[in-house]
Amino acid sequence: MKYAVIGAGWAGCSAAVELARRGHQVALFEASRTLGGRARQVSVHGLMLDNGQHILLGAYKATLGLFDTLKLRQDRVLRRLPLQMCYPEGSGGMVFAAPRLPSPLHMLVALIRATGLTRADKLALARFSSAARWMDWQLHTDCTVAELLDRFDQTDNLNRLMWHPLCIAALNTPAHRASAIVFLNVLKDSLGSRRAASDMLIARTDLTRLLPEPAARFVEAHGGTVHPGCAVQSVTRSGDQWQLVLPATHPAGPALADQRYDGLVIATPAETAGHLLTPFNLASHIPRFEYEPITTCYLKYPPGTRLSRPFMALAEDPGRHAYGQFVFDRGQLDGHAGLFAVVISGSQQAIESGHAELATRCAQQLATDLKLPELTHPEWSQVITEKRATFACTPNLQRPTHALPLPRCALAGDYTQSRYPATLETAVQSGIMAADCVAGDHESINESRF
Ligand SMILES: Cc1cc2nc3c(=O)[nH]c(=O)nc-3n(C[C@H](O)[C@H](O)[C@H](O)COP(=O)(O)OP(=O)(O)OC[C@H]3O[C@@H](n4cnc5c(N)ncnc54)[C@H](O)[C@@H]3O)c2cc1C
Repeated sequence: MKYAVIGAGWAGCSAAVELARRGHQVALFEASRTLGGRARQVSVHGLMLDNGQHILLGAYKATLGLFDTLKLRQDRVLRRLPLQMCYPEGSGGMVFAAPRLPSPLHMLVALIRATGLTRADKLALARFSSAARWMDWQLHTDCTVAELLDRFDQTDNLNRLMWHPLCIAALNTPAHRASAIVFLNVLKDSLGSRRAASDMLIARTDLTRLLPEPAARFVEAHGGTVHPGCAVQSVTRSGDQWQLVLPATHPAGPALADQRYDGLVIATPAETAGHLLTPFNLASHIPRFEYEPITTCYLKYPPGTRLSRPFMALAEDPGRHAYGQFVFDRGQLDGHAGLFAVVISGSQQAIESGHAELATRCAQQLATDLKLPELTHPEWSQVITEKRATFACTPNLQRPTHALPLPRCALAGDYTQSRYPATLETAVQSGIMAADCVAGDHESINESRF
């Protein structure tokens, strides 16, 4: 059968690979010239970097399964690090690093060895984990993460150094607005599962080369086609098939204009999906989301400049204009020696004074926290803000199903129904679920597979 997949972010790539894997012929359309959507390569000062620093988790079963399908060796493309939350020494933070021991011993030992936490902090953390395990990480009624932490008597220090940074990193939503149920789902699959699931995985290449390009090669090798720079304008029904309206200016536009497809996966962002579905009176299937920005600040230093670890947590303190939450040493990850990436999730306030000012502040924060005054003056800096990085993951958020009341047509995207917030894993899972909905050959997948 012939399928069209609209959008080559990680959701669209995943849907396209799943359909091709099942023996179908796939045409993958992407509006941008670069594949990968919100997890893609960008050229900065002649270097191939990312639109935003990403972390994957060992718990990302669907994503790691997709790497296997594409025959990508995980150890070649990803750097696997044990769970850690380590602040620079003397910056008022903590050092919490899980050793390579079976679960839950790894957490216990990390807790005992942790520095920067008081006895009361450690007891509160132990209480939280055992209560959460006892509840099987589930809540009957959703509330905010801040309310959840309050209910479990978590200390201010623990909230500041561990829970709030984890919440903003995982859900891109501050604890006082974030969904406790979704937060617990992420904790259950990472902290509450086998040790490898809590590992942190960081790409050794840029994000487009990591997955979208191998996915495109897989689709082509299975008889499909990939069309970057080709924004689908609208979709129509033609008999019992689907037809796409493509830009007349695209070189492949005229040749593809008459193509018919047996099925369709819409893997664009939510708003575009709503627009494509408007002629079918289905725009209301997709709710309006609120969005949160994420900012990545690249700072380039001489090649010998290194962090003591591949990445570190930073103490966010808007009072002193210190907005950085994590810093990654790209030299230890993908070989860009001397290049640091400072990450700020939920970056609304941080970007208010403009990108140039923010770069200066990030460099100052590194210089102060790492006690290396020379970091105040990078050779160059580049700030990238993704204004609509992810939807705000608030309590009781309604997310649309993959299945649509249209023949062989489904939605994929990180905003679709999932236990997870907007992540690469959600996107990849959604692609597989959408492919399953439209394929009709029923290898029969349900979410419990992930
Ligand atoms: C800065 C940043 C940091 C992040 N950090 C992490 C992290 O550390 N860990 C993690 O797991 N997740 C992270 N995320 C979230 C993750 O990147 C997203 O959840 C995921 O990439 C979403 O993929 P998607 O395919 O659902 O959507 P998108 O990536 O938005 O893909 C949709 C695609 O559709 C294309 N498109 C739109 N309209 C059309 C059209 N008309 N025709 C054809 N194509 C069209 C778009 O160009 C785009 O490529 C981060 C996101 C950002 C922005």
